[in-house]
Amino acid sequence: MLTYVCVGCGATVPVGESAAQPFRCPGARAGDDVDHVLWREDEPPGPFPQNEDANPFIRYRALLAAHALALGVGASDAIFVQLVRELDDEVARVDGHGFMETPFEPSPGLAEKLGCTTGEIWVKDETGNVAGSHKARHLMGLMLYLLADSRRGGLAGLPESSEDTAVLGATTRLGLHGTEGRHPLAIASCGNAALAAGVIAGAAGWPIDVFVPRSASAAVVERLGQLSADVHTCDRLDGVPGDPCHALFRVAVTAGAIPFCCQGSDNALTIDGGKTLAWEMISAFRRSARRLWGASRLDAVFIQVGGGALASSIVQGFCDALRLGAIDRLPRFYAVQTSGAYPLKRAYDSVADRILERVPLVVEQGFSPASDRERAELMRNHPAIIDDEMRFARTHRSAFMRPWEKHPHSIAHGILDDETYDWAAVVDGMLRTGGWPLVVCDDRLMDANVIARQATGITVDHTGSAGLAGLMKAVGLDSRLAAEHVAVVFSGIDRT
Ligand SMILES: [Zn+2]
Repeated sequence: MLTYVCVGCGATVPVGESAAQPFRCPGARAGDDVDHVLWREDEPPGPFPQNEDANPFIRYRALLAAHALALGVGASDAIFVQLVRELDDEVARVDGHGFMETPFEPSPGLAEKLGCTTGEIWVKDETGNVAGSHKARHLMGLMLYLLADSRRGGLAGLPESSEDTAVLGATTRLGLHGTEGRHPLAIASCGNAALAAGVIAGAAGWPIDVFVPRSASAAVVERLGQLSADVHTCDRLDGVPGDPCHALFRVAVTAGAIPFCCQGSDNALTIDGGKTLAWEMISAFRRSARRLWGASRLDAVFIQVGGGALASSIVQGFCDALRLGAIDRLPRFYAVQTSGAYPLKRAYDSVADRILERVPLVVEQGFSPASDRERAELMRNHPAIIDDEMRFARTHRSAFMRPWEKHPHSIAHGILDDETYDWAAVVDGMLRTGGWPLVVCDDRLMDANVIARQATGITVDHTGSAGLAGLMKAVGLDSRLAAEHVAVVFSGIDRT
């Protein structure tokens, strides 16, 4: 049965047997300093999906919360597939094309440029995804859930279909063309997430409020208007920390809007669709590995981090694949932030300090790790201490994660979130695998973008190639990387 549990306070949301929504933790109280984030608790059945449908929401449907909910309310697998195809057709009508597996291939040019002479750098190219970035994956998973939920008269406010045939399909057709009684969707974003939300909401015919900063590009605002989104411009207030768009988004949600966003702390379901990225990477690598190298694995994944949903999704997607036997160990996860704002790196360092104070080699012999790599390797060997300290961190949130104090600036403006909302899953993923966070400056971000475009021909933007900037920095610090299979995600297209 589909069930979510809060990793902060332990509250459970038994979606399968109640009308409760697994968005935010029901136990969350203002100022309680607990990191309330819901994770799916029931384990989707294996094996890891091997069908080759080009649409990831069909190929990996058995692992999706929306699929579990649909089956739970009496729809058949075939009807769920029909729901995905219908919505995908509408996405294609709105945005030119629907969802397809995006490329994941090694780039010999990048490997040569970075001096990875005996290794490979694999690029997951999301620039051709719906709305030009990975964000649409998160929101497609969420929309499929909302449409499945409408079958039981959920937030869509639609009556259940009395017809036995095409149960979800009938509701979907109703849903795609009727907006009466629906709670509006809401999102705070200045770029890719807003556009993706506009496309998916437009495809479903669902009203949406988008909260953007004054600095949002005119092109983005114009496109949102074409998509019939209600755009609200939010001003930053002097002396008030935190993102004003996010604050107004929260007000809208409190007033009844559905959090249709890419922050796992505001809607746990946004992680679900994002996992398809990791699953596709694993499927593509396995296809290739069978042909080329037998039992080789991905050794490291570099992910740019703003709000944290992309990294959290990828970490959790790999964990699913490990549990289902599709891989036999996790890659090391490296999170990449800019020198403009690095709240995740700050949180990781705070957790690391506490862990090291309990590591016997440090406490008893006065050992001091000489590098980030050495520190990460040392901590990785003490999973019980990691368990303990992550539990502590999740119940003392403000000691680890808090809004960045200064108004952040960087050329990679898509990862300038004041807070890494989904921070704990990403810190946990790094600690357990021996990866660590990297902070890169604008010069390196610019170099990485030039190299990315020249070596791959992909018109990725600076945010999208920020993971590569982190890898460029890391190859000088971690000699293993030159001989390994390393992955980066080019997360969004350059629209300029
Ligand atoms: Zn909670």
